[in-house]
Amino acid sequence: MKQINNFINGQFVTGSGEAYENRYPATDEVISIVNAADKDDVDAAVTAAKKALDGPWGRMSVAERIALLRKLADGIQARFDEFLEAEVRDTGKPVSIASHIDIPRGAANFNIFADQIAATGAETFEMATPDGNGALNYSVRLPQGVIGVICPWNLPLLLMTWKVAPALACGNTVVVKPSEETPSTATLLGEVMQSVGIPDGVYNVVHGFGPDSAGEFLTSHPDVDALTFTGETRTGEAIMQAASKGVRPVSLELGGKNPGVVFDDADLDQTLEGLARSCFVNTGQVCLGTERLYVQRGIFDQVVEGLADKAKSYAYGDPFNPDTTMGPLISRKHLQKVQGYYDKAISAGATLIAGGGAPDVKGFEDGYWIQPTVWTGLSEQDAVVTEEIFGPCTHITPFDTEEEAIHLANNSPYGLATSIWTTNLSRAHRVAGKIDVGISWVNCWFLRDLRTPFGGAKRSGIGREGGVHSLEFYTELRNICVKL
Ligand code: NAD
Repeated sequence: MKQINNFINGQFVTGSGEAYENRYPATDEVISIVNAADKDDVDAAVTAAKKALDGPWGRMSVAERIALLRKLADGIQARFDEFLEAEVRDTGKPVSIASHIDIPRGAANFNIFADQIAATGAETFEMATPDGNGALNYSVRLPQGVIGVICPWNLPLLLMTWKVAPALACGNTVVVKPSEETPSTATLLGEVMQSVGIPDGVYNVVHGFGPDSAGEFLTSHPDVDALTFTGETRTGEAIMQAASKGVRPVSLELGGKNPGVVFDDADLDQTLEGLARSCFVNTGQVCLGTERLYVQRGIFDQVVEGLADKAKSYAYGDPFNPDTTMGPLISRKHLQKVQGYYDKAISAGATLIAGGGAPDVKGFEDGYWIQPTVWTGLSEQDAVVTEEIFGPCTHITPFDTEEEAIHLANNSPYGLATSIWTTNLSRAHRVAGKIDVGISWVNCWFLRDLRTPFGGAKRSGIGREGGVHSLEFYTELRNICVKL
């Protein structure tokens, strides 16, 4: 059986934590044994990361780091098929998705932050002094130090490198705790780190779970200088609490219950195409996904019917078959959670428009499959409409006026993203500015320029990452004042 090891100080080590089984979501087969890190292993990883700050890595010029980042991007591309297979086996997501999104973005993250650090200068301020000679202030960006990186399972390589690439670009070292569900690509990246000559201790990976396991050992380690986390809002609260010990910076990218808003002047074909993607892609396991949909009454029936048709059009099956468009959910536990919401919707009196159950997938009967699902008719207070389900499902509510749509969209403790569908340009700008989220998409969804700020409002997170905003988090900006 394949063993997945920790990567500590440039070496793959079994670790002394309790090993656990990693399963293929499409079949429920055990595909590898993950050798988890115990408290001492996490301590060894953090100690190695701290020591590496004073080694060759800490003395490297920005130009040398940029060259290494580009080699990392090339290194992922060179082993594209291995990364693809590892990601598909861990997540069950179809190759049609992972080969277009996960792996290419995993590589691109290193190039984009190489570009970003190359283009980032310092600010200077000349000031007057009483003696008339003046003084010059300039800022320098220094690494934060050791960054603890805690990742989720839905876009494993993409979201991990989204943090590791800017952290390394800025000269930090990292200890990564991938999700227990998806340990493989972070581990494979360790091999790429070795092959391109990243010094030992700069990139470390520790495996395990959250509470009383590698996750908590990492967040509570006093030599971790900053924490960056993507995952559930509830976990984010625990991470923030851990970060408060030692007053350490924390970046949180958390959950959502994202509203889509469709006005009756929208281009219907384009809208349905975009909505279906936003509700169902990656089996709905996308933090930016649309689980609440508000549609102006004039086209309500058309959108409900159109989205139901899309929901029924997905091809389940072998994730390695390029024609498969819908994979399973990540785990049996998650399947039970999503199915629980599907059942709750019915008992709360929802009208089931499409889906609602588990499909029969020939040859993959033991996988964690679920149907894309559309409901109408629930109240805005119902748990199905207020809580993040993280499955391929959406509830559609009609509205009459623009004000009502804005009110409904904002009626949530979350504030990650929205998509607004209209051909009225003034309305698009007006509504985008009034929905309380970190990212508003107009006539599109998940269209990402990696230089832009990414993050959530309200309970969807703290801080922004992307482009120069990542550099804000991964560096400590210091001012130097020179009296002339
Ligand atoms: P999760 O919070 O359950 O786990 C995320 C990571 O945190 C895992 O590695 C887990 O082991 C670790 N963890 C759990 N408890 C911990 C603790 N007490 N201390 C330290 N580490 C701990 O999230 P998940 O189920 O892996 O991911 C799904 C969630 O992530 C959804 O809520 C989704 O919306 C969110 N998400 C947000 C974004 C974003 O950019 N805002 C992106 C992707 C996913």
